[in-house]
Amino acid sequence: MKIRIDGGVVVGWSGTSHELVPDGSVLIDGDTVTSVGSDKSAAADRVIDAAGKIVCPGFVNLHVHSQLNVGDYLLPDVTKKDYLAANWFVFGAPLKEKVETPPPAAIAIGRKYALYSALRNGSTTVLDPGGGPGALEDYVAIVGQLGGRVFFSPPYRSHDIFTDGEGRHYYEEREDKGRPGLQRAVEFIKQYHGAHSGRLQGILNPAQAETCEPSLLKESAAAAKELDVPIHIHAGGNFREFLQILNIYRKPVVEYLADNGILGPRTTLGHMAITGGHSRVDYPRGDELKLLAESGATVGHCPYKCAKMAFALESFDQYLAAGVRIGLGTDTYPLDIIAEMRYASLISRLIDKNASGARPAEVFNAATIGGARALGRDDLGRLAVGAKADLVIINLRTPRYGPIRDPINALVEYGSGADVETVIVDGVVVVEHGRSARIDEAELFAQAEAGAKRAWDNWAGRDWNGRTVEQIIPPAFPTRRN
Ligand SMILES: [Zn+2]
Repeated sequence: MKIRIDGGVVVGWSGTSHELVPDGSVLIDGDTVTSVGSDKSAAADRVIDAAGKIVCPGFVNLHVHSQLNVGDYLLPDVTKKDYLAANWFVFGAPLKEKVETPPPAAIAIGRKYALYSALRNGSTTVLDPGGGPGALEDYVAIVGQLGGRVFFSPPYRSHDIFTDGEGRHYYEEREDKGRPGLQRAVEFIKQYHGAHSGRLQGILNPAQAETCEPSLLKESAAAAKELDVPIHIHAGGNFREFLQILNIYRKPVVEYLADNGILGPRTTLGHMAITGGHSRVDYPRGDELKLLAESGATVGHCPYKCAKMAFALESFDQYLAAGVRIGLGTDTYPLDIIAEMRYASLISRLIDKNASGARPAEVFNAATIGGARALGRDDLGRLAVGAKADLVIINLRTPRYGPIRDPINALVEYGSGADVETVIVDGVVVVEHGRSARIDEAELFAQAEAGAKRAWDNWAGRDWNGRTVEQIIPPAFPTRRN
């Protein structure tokens, strides 16, 4: 099928960078972009009118967890009174004897909701670092149904994290040392890499830097090479991890990863905000940024998630200046990659006290070509002839904005995923008029809501001190009881 998109400001590709084509036209034939310019005469099966809108390459979101229980993950804010428990440990470190796996159907709803939310908000490609169990066939079916592009395989680790009866976190080596998990991931990739016309791609997910022992990292790097797939690992995302690695290996996390062969041009480091020399870390900065830059690894920067935890990457501009590659991810709700660009820009300016820092072009690059490069894909994140037909049409002519002089500046400064009207992936319209063209959005939301309520209602059973959700996360205002 040929689709022509006419009349918008097209974010095209000059050969070296994004460039704007006013009153442009994009022609897609099957899954490929075949023309980007001003000519609107080519024959097409369907013409989409984008007048007054911008036509952007689909965004690449380097951090969308789809596997966690939807109820855990939709908690909008976690307690800051118990700071160490307030990061992902809340979700990932239950009381050991209270570990219970939600039924596959509940996990499937969580997966579907997260992947759809990211897609609806403009991420045509997501990197899913995983997070929990569930039926892998369900996963493959969901990717097929929703229509987005996903890099995934189930994560694994050699050490688990639990909470004891006093609320303390501790690491415990798994009896199987994570090897069956690695094997399962390898088998998943062998079976499903390239499924759904290539929309499902394999990536290896050794889960977190401090939960993967050196030999598991080395085996992961070798397996990724053998399978020819990228790698994602959480690293530098919290203080607990930094100290854990420092205590055990006597080096900062970047050195730990470098020494174990995990850094490389197709490796994404989820977060990588906490390094030596970070203002919150009592450890000197060494050569970490240099190591990162030389390795070609990409920092999967999730500024909103860090800001919620009262810290920041220091800073977007400083990393770029050091030659470090940066992509963007959302990690937590909202899975809104457009808002994430704004957080990346504003927070970097705050950190550097530089009002003209982290320019819109730089964060837009991170959310498009930066993410694509991390995944080893120069056919994503740009609207060029021969690229995959992944694009989004965004309406900026709403009262939310004001008159707009430069659409990219406006998008970064004011934009929201809610402004995304149309999403096309692999040449197929998957979101239209802001709604899925393939699933019943209202039904999915109702299922997610019910799943969340179930998890919240049963929260006390897994908390170390039997606390309810209301006790852990007090409501903003009290509720009147009649
Ligand atoms: Zn994560």
